[in-house]
Amino acid sequence: MSEMPSCPQCSSPYAYEDRDNYVCPECGHEWARDGVAEPAEESTVTDANGNPLADGDTVTVIKDLKVKGSSSVVKVGTKVKNIRLVDGDHDIDCKIDGIGAMKLKSQFVKKA
Ligand SMILES: [Zn+2]
Repeated sequence: MSEMPSCPQCSSPYAYEDRDNYVCPECGHEWARDGVAEPAEESTVTDANGNPLADGDTVTVIKDLKVKGSSSVVKVGTKVKNIRLVDGDHDIDCKIDGIGAMKLKSQFVKKA
């Protein structure tokens, strides 16, 4: 069981549970227990600056990246449009002009 929250209205520590609500006996304030629940843990992919990335974002490469299996290099400053987030070590799936489909690590890009 989690600890009882104090009343958001009067800060009374004597709130108690009543079905789906908390009730404050001092000021009569009632509030939903749902808001107190721990947020579901979501794995968020973030760029080099810690900004969250989403499918369809445009990012800029911040480091020369060798393309696996070829002599091509993705240069610093390359814009990558319409990324798709995937699971794994390389968590961005994308298509780069002149190179084709490849995977990037989110720590080597920043949101454009
Ligand atoms: Zn209260």
